[in-house]
Amino acid sequence: MPGAHIKTGSIAGKRRAASIGPARRIAEELRAQNERFAAAVENMSHGLCMFDADERVIICNRNYIDIFSLDAKVVKPGIRFFDILQHSVDIGIAAQSAGELYAIRKPYIDGAKPSTYEEILSDGRIIVISHRPIAVGGWVSIYEDVTEQRRAEQELKEQHRRFDAALANMSQGLLMYDANGRMIVRNKRFLELFNITAADFPLGTTHGDALERLLELGIYTELDVDSEVAKAEASLKATKMHSTYRQLTDGRTVLVVRQTMRGGGWVATFEDVTERRRVEERMTHLAHHDTLTNLPNRSMFREKLDQALGEAKAKPLAILSLDLDRFKAVNDTFGHPAGDWLLKCVAKRLQHAVRSSKDVVARFGGDEFAIIQSGIKNAADAEKLAKRIVEMVGKPYRGKGREMHVGVSLGIALYPGDGDDADTLLTNADMALYRGKSEGRNVYRFFEAGMDARMRERRALEADLEGALSKREFELDFQPILDIGSGRIVGAEALMRWRSPSRGLVSPENFIAAAEETGLIVQLGDWALRKACNVAANWPRNMRMAVNVSPAQIKSGGFARSVISALAFSGLSADRLELEITETVMMDESDTVLKTMSQLRGLGVRIALDDFGTGYSSLGYLRRFPVDKIKIDRSFIRDLDKRDTAAIVRTVIGLGAELGIIVTAEGVETEAQLDTLRKAGCGEAQGYLIGVPTKAADISRLLRSQALLRQSG
Ligand code: C2E
Ligand code: MG
Ligand code: MG
Repeated sequence: MPGAHIKTGSIAGKRRAASIGPARRIAEELRAQNERFAAAVENMSHGLCMFDADERVIICNRNYIDIFSLDAKVVKPGIRFFDILQHSVDIGIAAQSAGELYAIRKPYIDGAKPSTYEEILSDGRIIVISHRPIAVGGWVSIYEDVTEQRRAEQELKEQHRRFDAALANMSQGLLMYDANGRMIVRNKRFLELFNITAADFPLGTTHGDALERLLELGIYTELDVDSEVAKAEASLKATKMHSTYRQLTDGRTVLVVRQTMRGGGWVATFEDVTERRRVEERMTHLAHHDTLTNLPNRSMFREKLDQALGEAKAKPLAILSLDLDRFKAVNDTFGHPAGDWLLKCVAKRLQHAVRSSKDVVARFGGDEFAIIQSGIKNAADAEKLAKRIVEMVGKPYRGKGREMHVGVSLGIALYPGDGDDADTLLTNADMALYRGKSEGRNVYRFFEAGMDARMRERRALEADLEGALSKREFELDFQPILDIGSGRIVGAEALMRWRSPSRGLVSPENFIAAAEETGLIVQLGDWALRKACNVAANWPRNMRMAVNVSPAQIKSGGFARSVISALAFSGLSADRLELEITETVMMDESDTVLKTMSQLRGLGVRIALDDFGTGYSSLGYLRRFPVDKIKIDRSFIRDLDKRDTAAIVRTVIGLGAELGIIVTAEGVETEAQLDTLRKAGCGEAQGYLIGVPTKAADISRLLRSQALLRQSG
């Protein structure tokens, strides 16, 4: 029996000597019993040492030897108790002297004190020792090393302390439920959060009871307790973290997060997220709305459109793409704050214009808006809305003592006819808008198949135009202008031509708009102005040169300077230059335009109002800005044989005479037309009858022959 320190011989040996036969049997039995006892002693988890009445060891086990790190060769049966103590002092395990140790232990051994006590060894270990007397004298000592156990207990205590501190100091309310669904922990913050007492929520409460109680106390707003409990259980079963926002009757929002614990049961935390939610909501609102008008922005619009189109049976709808006309002029004239105010007014009018609350009005930025018109039956419904919008937006805006005007152009794409995804519909609506804009303002246009092809064509044209000026692809033709009374050529109009290597000769009708769109018109117009002035400088002094001017040139700012420079370089006197502008220029109320025009007029440059009768033909413009000449559009001359048209033309001529403004008729092709005009008292005529647009040299030749004719006549 390894490690068993037992005097096997001492008990069994004596008995064996006493008898043989039955005695032998008894002896055998005793021996077996002894062995069992020794085995039991050896295998117990504690240290054990048995002493006889003389305080000598009868038996001790390996654990005892190990606990005190004793030397098994020294501590063995027969050694005295005191000698063991001395031995332990010798090997340095005891914290005191053998005498002191003996004095401490003896009263316990003798039963003078409770038989169990603790001893701390020099290495810090804690040993629980207990002594029990034996009837025949002596005692048994049991030793247990409880160092680990004590440390674990200490740690657990520390952990509890920390847990309590954490619970008490957490900003969230916390409840802990055990595996049976009973509340086992509840922190102070939980009570504070809901302004309730511990008595309202005693430990042991179930989740359902707690919800019930929160409802009874009027803290939670309406909720179905049973379904809430079922939901929570399901998510806890799936061991998922589960969070819910709870609306409190006092307006606060509490975030409840539930999470299963490893040993069963769950933890629920409660957090007041009212402020955070408010900020979040504000942020999402900001991300989805235009700050100026508070209308949905482009991203929100897209979302709504995708949503509407994504529905299983998406209903027909219309996308209206809007762009304000002349908004830039308002901004330039009245300043940005006024522009902002106007945009807000437009936003309000648009919201009024749509009928259904399902319709979406959005601002894409600048003066661009877009609308989703839902639940339409056909194109006519969209057309009705478009008309309403043109009318409503076009009404004057009055505020702070001023009156502002803008118009709006719309492009319309219909779902499902014009596309079945948001991108296509938006592009097509834009395309229709673009088309509308290029044809005149204050209009709506439906998307038509082929518009995209035309759009591509237009882009290609713009790209080609880009390099044309530097490649000297532009030319000027000149068309003579006749003074009807004297029958003499008194001037010519410079008309631009584009000789494109790939496109051939392109008419200004086909490229001026594109050049205006890209801004190229500013340089191009400047070039035409210089060229025309140079040509005119070589003509007789009584010949005027008319040059067409695009509104974009005047708005660009440096226009007056560029006219003065052209005059100076060519040496042409200012009164021989006539600038042809259209009514759209006059409509611009901004300071730049009016200032520029008066400045030029002040220099003696003449201003002609071109294409009169095709635009708004508001005579009010003539009052706001005096012109030197009105050019009646050729469409009126073409229809001069019609009574009404003839009446209009006569009226305009009469008006000119009244105001001292020269009236020129454009597009005179027949003698009959010229005759009518002459009779009506029209001052000048221009048209194929008098001469087609031609090269400068041809005009010079014409002038020479005219001079010769006069000389001979
Ligand atoms: P516009 O200023 O009204 O010029 C008169 C247009 O009528 C010219 O067309 C001319 O060729 C055409 N025309 C003249 N007599 C007759 C006639 O008897 N019958 C018919 N059917 N047409 C006649 P064009 O040269 O094609 O120019 C078209 C427009 O392009 C011009 O109209 C003008 O607005 C613009 N344009 C031409 N050159 C320039 C330029 O240098 N700058 C700017 N900004 N625009 C220009
Ligand atoms: Mg003209
Ligand atoms: Mg004209």
